[in-house]
Amino acid sequence: MCGIVGYIGQRDAYPILIKGLKRLEYRGYDSAGVAIINRGRELNVYKTKGKVSDLEHFVEDKDVSGTIGIAHTRWATHGEPCTENAHPHYSQTKRLALIHNGIIENYASLKNKLQAKGYTFQSSTDTEVLVQLIEFIQTSHELNLLTAVQLALQEVIGAYAIAVLDKENPNQIIAARKSSPLVVGIGEGEFFLASDATPIVEYTDKVVYLDDGEIAVIRRDEKLKVVNLDNVECPHDVKTVTMNLGQLEKGGYPHFMLKEIFEQPDCIRDCMRGRINVEADNVVLSAVIDYKKQLLSAKRFIIVACGTSWHAALIGKHLIESLCRIPVEVEYASEFRYHNPVIDADDVVIAISQSGETADTLAAVELAKSRGAFIYGICNAIGSSIPRATHTGSYIHVGPEIGVASTKAFTGQVTVLAMLALSMAKEKNSIDNHTFVNIVKELQQIPEKMEEVLKENEHIAQLAKIFTYAKNCIYLGRGYSYPVALEGALKLKEISYIHAEGYPAAEMKHGPIALVDEEMPVVVIAPHDDLYEKVLSNVQEVKARKGRVIAFVSKGDQMISQIADTCIELPDTMDCLTPLIATVPLQMLAYHIAVCKGKNVDQPRNLAKSVTVE
Ligand code: GLU
Repeated sequence: MCGIVGYIGQRDAYPILIKGLKRLEYRGYDSAGVAIINRGRELNVYKTKGKVSDLEHFVEDKDVSGTIGIAHTRWATHGEPCTENAHPHYSQTKRLALIHNGIIENYASLKNKLQAKGYTFQSSTDTEVLVQLIEFIQTSHELNLLTAVQLALQEVIGAYAIAVLDKENPNQIIAARKSSPLVVGIGEGEFFLASDATPIVEYTDKVVYLDDGEIAVIRRDEKLKVVNLDNVECPHDVKTVTMNLGQLEKGGYPHFMLKEIFEQPDCIRDCMRGRINVEADNVVLSAVIDYKKQLLSAKRFIIVACGTSWHAALIGKHLIESLCRIPVEVEYASEFRYHNPVIDADDVVIAISQSGETADTLAAVELAKSRGAFIYGICNAIGSSIPRATHTGSYIHVGPEIGVASTKAFTGQVTVLAMLALSMAKEKNSIDNHTFVNIVKELQQIPEKMEEVLKENEHIAQLAKIFTYAKNCIYLGRGYSYPVALEGALKLKEISYIHAEGYPAAEMKHGPIALVDEEMPVVVIAPHDDLYEKVLSNVQEVKARKGRVIAFVSKGDQMISQIADTCIELPDTMDCLTPLIATVPLQMLAYHIAVCKGKNVDQPRNLAKSVTVE
């Protein structure tokens, strides 16, 4: 995680760096810092525990002048979140300053080596070891910064995106990446550097995405040069990014999360645009056309993901198995990569990640690829690492997601999985035309139905008030609604810090029912689907133990609405598309509960978005 920003050009660096950090604050917000070389060739580092706004306050009376600088917002991996551990880190003589996103795995042995040579350390981070090592190599062999960075990185085991300043050379930033993202923006006589394109788009639409093992040599008044650790020049493509600035602002909403919940109808329209042919009621995913052979001959699909994306994966399993009749396994990427999974060339591995940078998912992709599987990525961030590492894939096209608790990315992922299952089923002839057309027609209705759900916002905000007393909460669902229950519970945990468990409704009697009493809110997702009657019995079981039931049911529900304490009616849809409708009110419920409890919804404690560490 961590957000990295850099600037070199004719303008004052500080305002650009601060604005960039604010755009990246979703990636971490334990502490923040900047390093700027002023006209007098002084390398000033200012950093503080807390958020970017705390940093702004801290530097009010400081010299932040200068046209070259780097900045960082941290999500601690090594060392507590405090000012000493904040980045940038100085080297021993304060000649260098460095920012880092990732983990230096062998930091302890490198630190011992440097301490034996008289180096002292100001922080307990892994990062400080790297900047000291670079300076040690640079000074002991009288090398230029680029060569010292190349040699130092050859000694490093781990993951990094780094940027380094050297006060002896105020016209250059050296930046490098391995397994953590880094983007260089190319302006007119100026360069930008960032963990993703969001801090850059305001100034230029020309970007270069660095690949693993690459080092960017960014020099004032020179062309961008990209080399590898052995100093061989690497050819690089300049890409054009299109991002609407409005997508990066709150647009009148109090929080990004609420804005992103409300954007969902439009996001799903964008996700389907060009893929669903409205006149012909057909779905065309270009990846399915281009890689028909690999996808249709697969003996098995394995979906790897983490967190919310893993819940989308569970829905994908249902969709693909029921429509395409191909077996699907769903794995946590972090488990998959370490249990020596059985994979062969007949397998298709689908990797789902909003950021496209999730370290465990990326590693799972590399592992499956090395064993011959065909890899399909489902990501949001264009040009990120996973789409570049996969054979093919589909972007979800929901626009930048800033709120740490994922909302629109989840419904975008489910929409892509539905389109993928439909288009493969059609090619495979595993679905009859009537069912196919019905699902495609219904999918097109989803954005409007989501708009209806959003009208319940006030009602849900009222309902949220009764939850603020709760310490625990159970979410129940079956079939397609079971992953929805998991996702609802996760949203609540993430932003309100209320312990919540999602459970398959029938499994409740094998354990969690012991927790049910009059204090326990039980949220039930019970659309009018094939399993409705079964869920009804499960609700009876909860009520018999005096549990407080909050049910989300289909419009016109006759039975559960009679016994539940509170009921919210949702528009009816086909069974396989219910997650797209039923997840939205659960997102709103979690949001309003967190707001009632006075929590920081967009930046929940201990969490960060874009999990680029394993
Ligand atoms: N390992 C570094 C630290 O703890 C960077 C953390 C990160 O990239 O999330 O400061």
